[in-house]
Amino acid sequence: MAQLLVFSDIDGTLIDFATYSYAESTPAVTALLARYIPLILCSSKTRAEQNSLRRDLFIPDPFIVENGSAIFIPPGVFSFDFSHRVVDGWQVVELGVTAVAIRHTLAAIRQETGLVFHGFADLSTAEVAAVTGLDEAAARRAQQREYSETLVTPFQPEELAQLQMALAARGLAVVSGGKFHTVTGAGSDKGTAVAHLTALYRQQLGAVVTVGVGDSANDAPLLTAVDQPYLVQRPGGVWNEMDVVGLERVTAVGPRGWRQAIEGIIQTGNWKA
Ligand SMILES: [Mg+2]
Repeated sequence: MAQLLVFSDIDGTLIDFATYSYAESTPAVTALLARYIPLILCSSKTRAEQNSLRRDLFIPDPFIVENGSAIFIPPGVFSFDFSHRVVDGWQVVELGVTAVAIRHTLAAIRQETGLVFHGFADLSTAEVAAVTGLDEAAARRAQQREYSETLVTPFQPEELAQLQMALAARGLAVVSGGKFHTVTGAGSDKGTAVAHLTALYRQQLGAVVTVGVGDSANDAPLLTAVDQPYLVQRPGGVWNEMDVVGLERVTAVGPRGWRQAIEGIIQTGNWKA
């Protein structure tokens, strides 16, 4: 029997887009935990943010941070040797570029293009709290970026195109996460990280079936990389426009849709076939 792996976005998917509450998805998280089905968080959020959520929900599994830039793996998940660094006791597979290098490049692009924009690193913790609606402790975790920078300035389409070109010339890329823009190394996206971690699980466990759940444009690579992709609705009950083969559009918003998708998968048990 194949082992099921669930890869999930966080904002607007596992947790509510506006309130950041996970109350509606929690029963399905518990259902996965009870069945020892790995729940792999995969989001633009930082290690500090995801770890806080993992602790709250008792999720023990590896997780993918900063839009696919790195995979943090608790020691002991994989019993074979694989390429990684050890950071604070985690086995870390780094696929992206360091935040320090990204911030240097953004400073150079500001000078060169005259574009005016601000990232989390330019803001005080109180300012990050104000623009995100996070409390100060959560805002501090959001600022602890290791492989990316979050830009909070809304861009006109032509400004975004100009920024994209300047970043691409330097090996970086920008993606929209719904509220803000995230700048990462051009080679790293959620899909690359999902494929990498899936290969490790396959080496450890043999046959695996992968499920992915997301809500927005930056989840398209994640959803493309899994066997069974699910798209939950955005606030207002609409789906992000997305062209992914086999995509299942769940008729519920955010965490309510997440619970519906996961409970459906568990009930039908169709990964076991
Ligand atoms: Mg999202």
